[in-house]
Amino acid sequence: MRCAHFRTALSARLDGEPTGLPDRRLDKHLARCAACRAWGERAERLRDRVVEAGAAGPSADWSAALLANLGGYGAGADRVGADPAGAGGAAADGLGATGGPGQGDGGSAPER
Ligand SMILES: [Zn+2]
Repeated sequence: MRCAHFRTALSARLDGEPTGLPDRRLDKHLARCAACRAWGERAERLRDRVVEAGAAGPSADWSAALLANLGGYGAGADRVGADPAGAGGAAADGLGATGGPGQGDGGSAPER
């Protein structure tokens, strides 16, 4: 069996998932294979760090902050749409500048 296979199994065991092969078989390989042993130690450290980060990361606070951010986005967009002086005026100016010289809108152009 190849080392990669044992490492997959080792990773699964670290995650508490079924390894697909007997523990003894995995341990026997680890006892003989320094590379896999080192890999396993690294994987274990990495997993510990991920677990720690996970505990501090997507917690209730994190989710609340995310929801607050999403909510703020929606409220902001509503406020811009409902505010005629702010975004409305700017948008009208922009339209006039681009549409004016060409065809205009007929209303303000002194054609007749
Ligand atoms: Zn190995």
